[in-house]
Amino acid sequence: MMDDKIPQQKKPLIYYYIIAMIVLLLLNIFVFPMLTGMQVQEVGYNEFRKMLEEDRVTAVEKDDTMYVFAATDDRGVERYYKTGLWDDPELTQLLLDKGISFTEVIPTQASPLLSFLVSWLIPIMLFIFLGRMLSKRMMNGMGNAMSFGKSNAKIYADTATGKTFADVAGQDEAKEALTEIVDFLHNPGKYAEIGANLPKGALLVGPPGTGKTLLAKAVAGEAHVPFFSISGSEFVEMFVGMGAAKVRDLFKQAAEKAPCIVFIDEIDTIGKKRDGAGFSGNDEREQTLNQLLSEMDGFDGTKGVVILAATNRPESLDPALLRPGRFDRRIPVELPDLAGREAILRVHCKDVRMEQNIDLNVIARATAGASGAELANIINEAALRAVRMGRSLVSQEDLQESVEVIIAGYQRKNAVISEHEKRIIAYHEIGHALVAAKQTNSAPVQKITIVPRTSGALGYTMQVEEGETVLLSREEAFNKLATLTGGRAAEEVVFNSMTSGASNDIEQLTRMARAMVTRYGMSDKFGMVALEQVTNQYLGGDSSLACSQETASQIDEEVMKLIEQAHEKALGILRENRDKMDELAAYLLEKETITGDEFMAILEKE
Ligand code: ADP
Ligand code: MG
Ligand code: ZN
Repeated sequence: MMDDKIPQQKKPLIYYYIIAMIVLLLLNIFVFPMLTGMQVQEVGYNEFRKMLEEDRVTAVEKDDTMYVFAATDDRGVERYYKTGLWDDPELTQLLLDKGISFTEVIPTQASPLLSFLVSWLIPIMLFIFLGRMLSKRMMNGMGNAMSFGKSNAKIYADTATGKTFADVAGQDEAKEALTEIVDFLHNPGKYAEIGANLPKGALLVGPPGTGKTLLAKAVAGEAHVPFFSISGSEFVEMFVGMGAAKVRDLFKQAAEKAPCIVFIDEIDTIGKKRDGAGFSGNDEREQTLNQLLSEMDGFDGTKGVVILAATNRPESLDPALLRPGRFDRRIPVELPDLAGREAILRVHCKDVRMEQNIDLNVIARATAGASGAELANIINEAALRAVRMGRSLVSQEDLQESVEVIIAGYQRKNAVISEHEKRIIAYHEIGHALVAAKQTNSAPVQKITIVPRTSGALGYTMQVEEGETVLLSREEAFNKLATLTGGRAAEEVVFNSMTSGASNDIEQLTRMARAMVTRYGMSDKFGMVALEQVTNQYLGGDSSLACSQETASQIDEEVMKLIEQAHEKALGILRENRDKMDELAAYLLEKETITGDEFMAILEKE
């Protein structure tokens, strides 16, 4: 991710102003009066008259509010005094008689130029200065609020992202498609000669964590052309019209820097289908989308601006975005296969110190369906575990354990489980394993454990496929159902009771059986009819029924029938192998965790 670093927020300017004001206020109230007060002493008018009579006064000055006079004090030192104005008509005569100099201060007439400066120009300049400082600060701090319409797409030139195709493992098709684009940017002449047009845009589509963003960064690393990257959510911002302005700005920048690549991550945030219904926020988004569409039409392909975008919700994108001339190339970035997983693990192992004899293939086989991000996480968890254990190298065991942490959570070593319940759990797990082992076409058991996990799992049986299969036959699917019912079936056979422990099995079981009926065309009753549609392929795979109410209830019946058959099969297997089940369960109870090999050894022993 290319994240937006927000600069460290300094104390707001207003804070300093307030402090300055308080200091000034304190000076005004306490300090200045003290200074001036020390020099001029205030006295009563009678005192003034008395000093006059005593001939101690040497000079008098009158201003608007008081008399200020100089007089010698008791010790013969001349000092300044002041007193309030008093309506005293005899004063003038008295002063004249005594020959004391007296005067009224002429109010100072400030020069008009100076007063203009002081009262107008300086405050205005002050305000302009403050305003600039504040706005600068706001631009830095709040980012987009004040930077009207300026896109903050960052420029990534050359290897600024530090990623290359070597960092992306297992996405060979996607890499190939992108290599072509990179190549075009390097020498467009080759393509122009033949008359081929560069695709204007390519859309990376796939489930979360498969490396779409990573691929785009790698393109930047490989292309050696400027790379503008922006996330869809950055378009959706505070002011109406901002999104559109940003798009405009982005493309203007891009056109100046051509040839270059523009990458819009999570494009579904702005590229959603436009529809009539919706709340007010839609207006803004629609404007942004319209702007994007028209910009994409606007620039000509020969300039060498290529737009990449990534999303995991392609079905929600507006069709206008997907038509030729816009994102006319769609690059699937799917979950990695076995070889891909191993390659991804290898890439992430590069920077981790490992023991010599690490077998990544085992880990790859145990992580069917994991995304690149999850695999990266597994390696990191293993490294953390090694540190926790005080080792300096990561071991195979760390990797194994971290796979389980990702699947089922951490071990709950001190969970209190009664002996009786432990027995039930042991039989339940052995039930799964035994049913799996006694069927052909089902993946071998790799590990059985009854150590509880933080995810709530009380135990589990891990099955790992030998290699990779891309097809699921009807037998295999049915065997999976039987294996999943095996846990509950064991409880029934041994304890003649049922527990809530099978709830997760039941959930998986039902989903599987439903898919067999409604999507894989594996039921006798319906045959090859699609009764369900997957609506959200890359995000969980929700599906919605596409049939009548009546058919829906028949589907339910069919699903129940299928599960019942699987259940019967499991019960049969377990009853037949009751002795082995007891032996295995006792062994598991004692050891808590056993490997697939130990399991098979006991099973095959005469
Ligand atoms: P998304 O497809 O959701 O954009 P990202 O590109 O953000 O996924 O991938 C997240 C992280 O997963 C990457 O930073 C990288 O560490 C890891 N990863 C995902 N796919 C791969 C891959 N094919 N090869 C190597 N690492 C991968
Ligand atoms: Mg991403
Ligand atoms: Zn179970």
